[in-house]
Amino acid sequence: MTWADRVSPLVKSIPPSGIRRFFDIVAEMKGVISLGVGEPDFITPWHIRESCIHGLHRGYTAYTSNLGLLELREEIVRLLARDYQVTYDPRKEVLVTVGVSEAFDLAMRAVLSPGDEVLVPEPCYVSYKACVTLAGGKPIPVPTTIENEFRLTPAELEAYITPRTKVLVIGYPNNPTGAVMTREELAQIAAFVKKHDLIVISDEIYGRLTYEGTHTCFASLPDMRDRTILLNGFSKAYAMTGWRLGYACSNPDFIAAMTKIHQYTMLCAPITAQVAAIEALKNGEASVDKMVTEYNRRRRLMLNGFREMGLTCFEPKGAFYIFPSIKETGMDSLSFAETLLKEEKVALVPGNAFGDSGEGYVRCSYATSAANLAEALERIGRFVRKRLS
Ligand code: PLP
Repeated sequence: MTWADRVSPLVKSIPPSGIRRFFDIVAEMKGVISLGVGEPDFITPWHIRESCIHGLHRGYTAYTSNLGLLELREEIVRLLARDYQVTYDPRKEVLVTVGVSEAFDLAMRAVLSPGDEVLVPEPCYVSYKACVTLAGGKPIPVPTTIENEFRLTPAELEAYITPRTKVLVIGYPNNPTGAVMTREELAQIAAFVKKHDLIVISDEIYGRLTYEGTHTCFASLPDMRDRTILLNGFSKAYAMTGWRLGYACSNPDFIAAMTKIHQYTMLCAPITAQVAAIEALKNGEASVDKMVTEYNRRRRLMLNGFREMGLTCFEPKGAFYIFPSIKETGMDSLSFAETLLKEEKVALVPGNAFGDSGEGYVRCSYATSAANLAEALERIGRFVRKRLS
């Protein structure tokens, strides 16, 4: 028996991330413009970094409470009340986690029993289905389409309900499409959720990066607060991916269950990041606004660029991704991405990495400089023109 034979079958059943595999190849190449990675090209604003340094000077180097620093939880609660009019008790309804990544995993493990079904709208962030599977659940992909601007509808969801359905995952603004949903549209989803007595896990990590309309926090909809596990974090809006900090808010029972797992597996989120996050929430608004303005400028550049090439391109309204169709070229998304990388040295992510309904699209991140984006558009344009003519 080899060592590989002894790896858990559950772990073996999960495919490796399509994004990682691709970027291992890119890392070996020279002169590549990468539109692949989903992280801000900005460094964390100086005042946030400085607060961490001050914290270290003052000796903040120990474990915190399992839930996270109370001052941070209070700031989180204040932000959610101010921006989304949803209120939580910082002492028992907020858990500070190691990114939204940990929070999502905890949420799944806290509520799922073996075989429970989780509705996962696609295309979606690559971790969702894997975390459901690892928690013993069964991910049920629910396709969303460009015709409906990658939004969810109760009618579409209805077709996937079974007696085992327990959870619905929502992720707007969406990675990889950049789609958002309005309050009215989400209210229809809320009615569906109530009708089927579901739990919602709402990943709102891109909520602050909304360029048109305003972000609706799902938990702020009537009757949704207690049945929703709201996830958010610092990686995207505050350019803090490497700090590894996020949080979950929900009813005290769900938070207690998540904390039970967190206290054994993680103990607490890093104190350095927690100290910095307090500063981010207290004084970070102007820095975030500046980054949002810049992303918005790049969003327009990319949208125009792809449309000028003759590709169908859905207008993203949030996050920092654009998801043009490449169906017009007659190529599938993987061969488009691989051939583009070889011929023009531009790296992007094939849409099928985000689920079957992502096939026919590629995801480009515009979290890179406008100069890089302009050069990338030129190269992609040259590549596409050869295929269209
Ligand atoms: N959720 C979505 C939709 C993401 O795109 C990402 C990262 O790309 C994450 C969660 C992970 O966030 P964190 O860095 O807080 O773990």
